[in-house]
Amino acid sequence: MADDLFDLAVIGGGINGAGIARDAAGRGAKVLLLEAGDLAGGTSSASTKLIHGGLRYLEHYEFALVREALSERERLWGIAPHVIWPLRFVLPHAPGLRPRWLLRLGLFLYDHIGGRKRLPATQSIRLVNHPAGAPLKPEFTNGFVYSDCWVDDARMVVLNARDAANRSAEVRTHCPAQKLVREYDHWRIETPQGEFRAKAVANAAGPSVLELLGRAGEDSERRMRLVRGSHIVVPKLFDHPFAYFFQLADGRIFFAIPYEQDFTLIGTTDRDHQGPLTDIHADAEEIAYLCEGASSYFRKPIAPTDVVWSYSGVRPLLDDGSGKPEAATRGYRFELSPEDEGAPILSVFGGKITTYRHLAEEAVDIMASRLPILEGKGWTGTAALPGGDFPIDGAVALRDRIAARYPFLEPGWATRLERCYGTDTFTILGEAGRLEDCGRHFGHGLTEREVHHLMTREWAQSIEDILWRRTKLGLRFSAAEAGALKTWLANSQV
Ligand SMILES: Cc1cc2nc3c(=O)[nH]c(=O)nc-3n(C[C@H](O)[C@H](O)[C@H](O)COP(=O)(O)OP(=O)(O)OC[C@H]3O[C@@H](n4cnc5c(N)ncnc54)[C@H](O)[C@@H]3O)c2cc1C
Repeated sequence: MADDLFDLAVIGGGINGAGIARDAAGRGAKVLLLEAGDLAGGTSSASTKLIHGGLRYLEHYEFALVREALSERERLWGIAPHVIWPLRFVLPHAPGLRPRWLLRLGLFLYDHIGGRKRLPATQSIRLVNHPAGAPLKPEFTNGFVYSDCWVDDARMVVLNARDAANRSAEVRTHCPAQKLVREYDHWRIETPQGEFRAKAVANAAGPSVLELLGRAGEDSERRMRLVRGSHIVVPKLFDHPFAYFFQLADGRIFFAIPYEQDFTLIGTTDRDHQGPLTDIHADAEEIAYLCEGASSYFRKPIAPTDVVWSYSGVRPLLDDGSGKPEAATRGYRFELSPEDEGAPILSVFGGKITTYRHLAEEAVDIMASRLPILEGKGWTGTAALPGGDFPIDGAVALRDRIAARYPFLEPGWATRLERCYGTDTFTILGEAGRLEDCGRHFGHGLTEREVHHLMTREWAQSIEDILWRRTKLGLRFSAAEAGALKTWLANSQV
């Protein structure tokens, strides 16, 4: 029986759960990670995908949060230079909105409070003679360019889960924790895949954190504020590498970001979410709001009919009593059950993709007081995630190596593979010398070899997992191509 007793069961395979599982497994614990659906199937695949301090949080005086997030920025880039890369953001000065001196002051703080070392500093620009000025309306004549980083959020989750599994964690997807029963010194967790036992539980259920506590017969005084954010994707609106940070007349801000080589990502909204967590989608009003916002900056108007894809997620925010949803804190808190209750449960409230690694480290440090097996200190700040074992500025060189090693890849494929898999691309494509050596080609560079990798090493099961989370090839696949992949998956022996 001792063999099936885990030290720590982490419940929730979003970024926070995967990060906690990785950290704890690396500190010697026997870890179980349970995810109700697919990894990153919740909020962690629906973000704006920025590793950022959050320039606008400065307006809410959240200096500690901004500093923490900024100091994570280059650290995360260093451990995952394939799925994270720097981006320069153009912030046009909009007449009648925040004054130029305020933008300058905010950006000065942003550049200096977070230990920026590699990312370039803010610059003032004249949009009339800057490439990012060309697609904008002529009234935007000047602005600033500042630095942040981009992340493939869903892949970041999977890479953390993979690294946890490489360190002996057991990862179970489609395995909801239905009931948690404390049997004095351990928890018994009931799932459709059977019962599991663990000495401690980390509740990383994101927006469902309180619901999961309820399933464990516990409660909390904390309350969550679930704030929906939606994004739209349109064919690319500009041909330069800059992203945009736009202000709106209602005081909100939103981004327009180069996306998946041929698209532009626009978002986000902030709406209190009242409905069930199973029904989260961008409604017509949100789509119209984003189109109008973008059209107020770009020369070429954007209409809902231009939208090729939209997605929506619910931010699990701590309810701090703020009026507007966008003002609610993006910080996080923990709650650990009292020692005299027996086996511990640690719940995570709030957080951001950007702060997940630090959050996970703190969570495991807290857990260590009750779980002596957890050895040593945090280690995740310098250890590369799978495929990320190359220099922080080596993405282009790696892309060139991939293209040279596999000359049959069409333009754009090497970039996609480098950004998804980094150095693991060589393991996935192996000795292939021709496209035919990669097995069936499902279209747009997705081959049987890659699908095999996703199914055997990344827990992918469905076309949704493959086309919308492990990759974003769903943007390119026709219904017929997706149907063929679905049929192949149904008959595959993997
Ligand atoms: C619109 C939007 C934009 C954002 N933009 C950014 C950004 O640019 N940068 C940034 O840093 N952050 C951003 N965020 C915030 C960030 O995405 C979230 O803070 C983060 O993804 C939350 O991760 P999580 O692991 O706590 O929750 P989730 O990703 O929701 O994971 C929780 C998981 O728990 C699982 N679960 C629930 N109940 C059970 C159960 N009983 N058993 C098993 N599993 C269960 C769920 O299926 C889910 O997968 C954004 C969020 C939104 C919504």
